[in-house]
This record gives sequence, C-alpha cells and structure tokens, in this order.
Amino acid sequence: MRVSVKSLTLGIGSYLGILGGGYYWALSQREAAAKKALAEKAEDAAGKPKRFSETDRLAIFGEGASKYDKEIGTDEIVMGLNLLRWWLLRQARGKILEVAGGTGRNLDYFPKGANLTIIDLCDRMMAETERKLRKSRRGDVLFGKMDVSQMSFPDRTFDTVCDTFGLCSFEDPKVALQEMERVCKDDGQILLLEHGRSTYDWLNEILDKNSHRHTARWGCVWNRDIESLCHDAGLEVTSISRWHFGTTYMIHAKPGRREADRRKGPVTTGKHAQDMSKNNKKVVLITGGTGLVGKGIEDFISSDPIAQESESYVFLSSKDGDLRDKAQTYAIFEKHRPAYVVHLAALVGGLFRNMAQKVEFYRENMLINDNVMEACKDFKVEKLVSCLSTCIFPDKTTYPIDETMIHNGPPHASNEGYAYAKRMLDVMSRCYKEEYGCNFTSIIPTNIYGPHDNFNIQDGHVIPGLVHKCYLAEQAGTDFTIWGSGKPLRQFIYSRDLAELIIWTMREYHSADPLILSVGEEDEVSIGTLAETVAKAMEFKGNVVFDTSKADGQYKKTASNLKLRSLRPDFRFTSIEEGLEKTCAWFKENYATARK
Ligand code: NAP
Ligand code: GDP
Repeated sequence: MRVSVKSLTLGIGSYLGILGGGYYWALSQREAAAKKALAEKAEDAAGKPKRFSETDRLAIFGEGASKYDKEIGTDEIVMGLNLLRWWLLRQARGKILEVAGGTGRNLDYFPKGANLTIIDLCDRMMAETERKLRKSRRGDVLFGKMDVSQMSFPDRTFDTVCDTFGLCSFEDPKVALQEMERVCKDDGQILLLEHGRSTYDWLNEILDKNSHRHTARWGCVWNRDIESLCHDAGLEVTSISRWHFGTTYMIHAKPGRREADRRKGPVTTGKHAQDMSKNNKKVVLITGGTGLVGKGIEDFISSDPIAQESESYVFLSSKDGDLRDKAQTYAIFEKHRPAYVVHLAALVGGLFRNMAQKVEFYRENMLINDNVMEACKDFKVEKLVSCLSTCIFPDKTTYPIDETMIHNGPPHASNEGYAYAKRMLDVMSRCYKEEYGCNFTSIIPTNIYGPHDNFNIQDGHVIPGLVHKCYLAEQAGTDFTIWGSGKPLRQFIYSRDLAELIIWTMREYHSADPLILSVGEEDEVSIGTLAETVAKAMEFKGNVVFDTSKADGQYKKTASNLKLRSLRPDFRFTSIEEGLEKTCAWFKENYATARK
C-alpha cells in the first residue's frame, strides 16, 4: 500500500494535535484540581476566608520544608532575590543574629567566618538548615529553636540582627520587630529584606483579594505594610529601597526609642553580671539547680558565710533554657556571665528508667554536656565542676573502685546509655584542659537522696521509690514491696553533704582528674537493710516483701573515698538513719507538691 506524503503529514499532524490537546487538558485538569484544593484549604463552606493561626502556619511551613528550596529557587533567581540577599547580608558585622532562618537560604551570603546565631520555630525547616550546616561543616554557627516574639537573649546582645522574608510569617510582626530591636546593641544595625504591600493600588487589590489563598499555600501573609510596621515598632529606619512594584523591601534600621525606655522600665543589659562585678561577687551558675542536688546546694549556701559574702548564685531549671540546645545554652551564659559553673543538669533516673530509655539517657546527656562544656570554654569560665556517678564504673572489676578505674571496662548493661555519656564528661574535662587550658573537673557521687528528690516510683532511684511506696502501703494498709532480691549493696550520700562537698570542690580542688564524693566502704548497706530503715523512719507497721521478678541491677559498685578523705579528713557524713529521718519527714510534709 502506498501512503501519500499529504496523508502521512495529516496523520502525524492529527496525532500530535490529539497528544498536545490531551496533555493541555490533563494540565488544566490538574491545575483546576489544585485550585479547588487550595480554595478548600483557604475558605470555609460559605466561601469566606479562613483564619490561620500560628500553629496552622507552622504546619504549612513544615509540610513544605523539604521541597521549599526547590519550589522557590527558580523564582528567586528570576526576580534577582539571591542578589538582594547577598547585597544586604554582606553588610552584617560583629555578633550576628538571623531570626526566622527557615531552610538556611542565607547561609552562603553572610561574610566568611561570621559570628552567627540562627533561630527559627519550625522544626522541619530547621532540619534543612542543620543538613546544610553539617554538609558545609559550619560547626561555628549557633543554631536553635526560639520564638522571635520572646527570645531568651539578653537586651543589646547582637551587633547585627537580620531577617529575610520573615515579617510576613510572624504572628505579631510588630512584637517581633520590637524583640529584634531589644536584642540589638545601641550602635547595632537591623537588616531586613521583606515582601509586603506594593506602591500600586491595583496590585494591592490583587494581594488583598488573594491573601488567604497565598497563606494557605505558603503560610505567609503577603499584604503587610512593612514600612509602617517598622515605624510602629519604633525602629529608626535609615534607608529603604523597594523593588518588584514596591512589594520587595530592603531596609536598614537602627534601634530607635526602645520599648524598655518607652515603658520607663529597667534596662536589663548584662545587669546581673555587671552588678556582680560591682559588688565583687563571683557569679556561680548551677545548671540543674532545681533538682535534688541543686536544692541541697541552695540549702547549704543559705548559711555559708563565703557564699553570702563573695558569691552570687544562679539556680537554673529547664524553664530558663533547654541545655540540649546550643543557642539557648549560650543565651544563658551570655545573660549570667558566670565565673564558676556547677553542672548538674542531666536526664536522671533510677535503674528501671535507665533500662527502659538507654537512647534518651545517652543522647540528651551528651547534648547537654557538650553545650555546657563548650559554652564554659567560650565564656572563659574560671572553673567547671561536672557531675558523674559511681554507676558509670566498670561492671567486671575489683573492689573498691577508685578514680583511676572509670574506663577499665564496660559499665553494667542496665545503664550503658547514661554511663557512656557521663564517662565522656571525664574524658572531655581533661581534653579541654590540655587543648584550651580550661579548669574543668568532675566529681563522682554515689547514690544520692534527700528532700526534693524525684519520688516517682517508676522513674526514681531506690530511696525515693521506697519512701513513696512505703507511704502508700501505710495509707492503704498493704504490704511494702521491695523490687529485686534486696541483696545488692549500695552507698548513699545525703544531698546536703554532697552540696557542701561540691562547693568545696569548686573553690578548692584544682585537678582535672575526678574525685569520688561518697561515704566510706564501711557505710555500704544492702537494699534489704535500707528498706527496713525506710520502714522505721516512716513508722510502717506492715510486712516488708520482696518482688524477685524485678531486676537487681549491678550487685555492687563499692567506691573508695580515700582520695576525698586525704583532702577533707575532717568531713563528717550524715548517717543514713538521720538522712532518711529528714527525707521521710520532708516527703510527708510536702506530699502534695513533691515530684512524684
Ligand atoms: P534531678 O533531681 O533529676 O534534677 C535534674 C535537673 O536537671 C533539674 O533541675 C532539671 O530541670 C535539669 N534539667 C534536666 N534536663 C534539662 C535540660 N534539657 N535543660 C536544662 N535543664 C535540665 O537530678 P539530681 O538527682 O539532682 O542529679 C544532679 C546530678 O547528679 C546529675 O548530673 C546526675 O546525673 C548526678 N547524679 C545523681 C545521682 C542520684 O542518685 N540522684 C547519683 C549520682 C549522680 P527541671 O527541674 O526544670 O526539670
Ligand atoms: P542504681 O543504684 O544506679 O542501680 O539505681 P537505683 O537507685 O534505682 O537502685 C536500684 C537497686 O534498688 C536495685 O537493686 C533495685 O532492685 C533496688 N530496688 C528495690 N526497690 C526499688 C524501687 O522501688 N525503685 C528502684 N529504683 N530500685 C529499687
């Protein structure tokens, strides 16, 4: 069969026409479906714009985080936004804060070696930044989760505060700007690259009409008047230039009349540290200051003349900042500028919690310890005392164990996550001393007890667990059940005794090598004997029984306190009977509010 050129051309033409038409139809269907989905997301059933809360918008950022760079990359190049980012941020100097760092799109535009802190509130956006930082090996950048409307940095901390395309996303952009102004030094600068209302009315009408759909798609509000916001917030705008029909703003500003001045309230810049140096008092920062040991220290210093005369104590809780986060840790150090740091903060728990959460015990404690040590180095802290534990000692060992034996074999499997994280504090104290001349050391307390302990039965240590269980058994008239065989042996130290020894270590002990803070070997007791002593202190009249289906953990960890004895031959420990009397009395009195 012969096919003419004409019919062949017609055939191919029709085929291509159908293919093209089909493709166009499919595209328009997809676009229509996307439009419909967006309208459903942005409008209620009556077609009215929905209101998006901060949580909604954060969820939208989170959803788009992994594709964000790809989706806006080409648009930004076409609009020249990369150039604008570069032009603005190359002017950043000194100590720099970038708020709403997003996926880290600006990382390459800051000057090389910049002293940079980045914060953001969206976890998944931050994960992208973290990935980029890791890839580019920028370990020097401080980076953490923080709300721009209530930053934990002290007043006047940064020389440059920058934000690119963040004002469109903040819940209250005026408050955010005032916070940025607050943390900016008096002679500092605020650099902004933003998008918002246009200089043309016709374009503003389009922005206003479609604002809710834009928010539903991108999580941001694109019709804010950025210039007015800066003025309302009290910033002194020194230059402003606008592009893209006026919708893109590049702003240089200085702190204006500050919010603190406006309220005639106190200015808190480095107040604490300055007051202290004026009074010639050393600032002592106690991380984990609200826990068992922190409360012991609080009790001890309340009647200690040296502490009263020449030291000023700051007791931190996790509410003052999460020490797993580097930026929050540094903000705390910036605020207090401590001379001494006693590092107690940790994820802490008894045998059963350690067995259940090895990963968390390892990771959280590693993060906390790394941040605190590095901050102590960077803030030139005169002395750091970190807290280890006798439960990190090797499982298979000879007894008694002393300070030289910490790394002589693996710890007991029941708490290896916690133990390895703690062991690293010892290793790194020596490394920091060797490399940076830091005066870091560590102490090794044995099992601690006292008022303000964690009396949670599942999570806590044996003494608070037994005290609580005994209290409940007495109330209910049931048996007092001890977990395990009762045969394991332990040494216990009363929290106030430990507190006194810690403060002495901080002032007087100057070696990087650790120091065991424990009662003597002769004071070791079995869990069974301990349970009887608790029962006596609690005036419990019922039966004491043992649940041998529960773990015993390590049989013993007998520690030698010879080194301590040689340094403090005069020190008298509180007996276990007296310590338990006090602890039980405290628990009964404070039952309603005790941690349990
Ligand atoms: P605790 O009562 O459980 O108190 C822990 C403290 O750490 C609290 O102030 C807590 O703050 C804080 N903290 C926890 N996670 C934090 C985070 N991510 N950021 C900031 N702060 C955080 O502990 P403890 O019994 O006093 O223990 C003190 C030290 O002694 C620890 O290093 C522990 O490993 C060690 N140690 C304890 C024992 C013992 O038997 N208890 C034995 C040997 C060694 P919040 O109150 O705000 O939560
Ligand atoms: P450890 O000293 O680091 O092993 O931790 P703990 O303070 O949790 O003490 C654990 C020892 O106490 C083990 O021998 C447990 O079997 C025993 N024990 C008995 N009753 C309890 C209890 O109620 N809670 C805890 N944590 N341990 C208990």
